[in-house]
Amino acid sequence: MTGAPTAEALQRLAATPVLLIALDFDGTLAPIVDVPADARALPEARDAVLALLDLPATHVAYVSGRAMESLAAVSDLPDHALLAGSHGVEVRTEGRVTLDLSDAEQAERDRLEPLLAGIAGPLDGVWIEEKPAGFAMHTRLADADATAAAEEQALAAADAEERGITVRRGQDVLEFSVRGTTKGDAIDRLREQTGATAVLFAGDDVTDEDGFGALGGDDLGVKVGPGETRAGCRVAGPAEMAAVLAELGQLRRGRV
Ligand SMILES: [Mg+2]
Repeated sequence: MTGAPTAEALQRLAATPVLLIALDFDGTLAPIVDVPADARALPEARDAVLALLDLPATHVAYVSGRAMESLAAVSDLPDHALLAGSHGVEVRTEGRVTLDLSDAEQAERDRLEPLLAGIAGPLDGVWIEEKPAGFAMHTRLADADATAAAEEQALAAADAEERGITVRRGQDVLEFSVRGTTKGDAIDRLREQTGATAVLFAGDDVTDEDGFGALGGDDLGVKVGPGETRAGCRVAGPAEMAAVLAELGQLRRGRV
């Protein structure tokens, strides 16, 4: 069993030159509620986050599966907090939302656009919708022949397996994403973007395990709640997580 973060582990984090604190939101800082729009971080969790945000060389990011619009609404943080929505596809930096695609991913998206448009164009009832990291091909208004033709051509053109494109099939829609959407990717990018020399990541859910997988020796992973985990330590719930963040803030305030 993994236990709560040790004082030594928090001291070590507090002493790092550039610290990134990456936090899942729901279930980690905010108790799980029935209506997602009603979720809010515990007051003590938000206070601890705001205190960390005030420190120099200290970055705080919320890393969530929520779409950016939803995450921005429930998180209620100042603009210098980093937000990574949709598992890191959408990133808000200094209040500006960008799609954090690498050059290679952007090139792949640019390659896909005319290919899919060329396939949809001549087929009745088939249209392409732009998505943050790719495109969705809709066939809701197409007959069976047009749908089959569109899907076959699009899958061939995308060459998904070869080119690392994620294909998701929905009801009358085929979505092509140039981005593997894991929290591990999001943490890698935030680490690069902030120049962090150590990272604390905390999360409660299965998708957070990808985040823990992105951590190295100088980092600290905190699993919130029960369940199997790759994280190095564990706390019981959002209240205990808030206490860890408050302690880390106090330790770091004495260091930077
Ligand atoms: Mg969660």
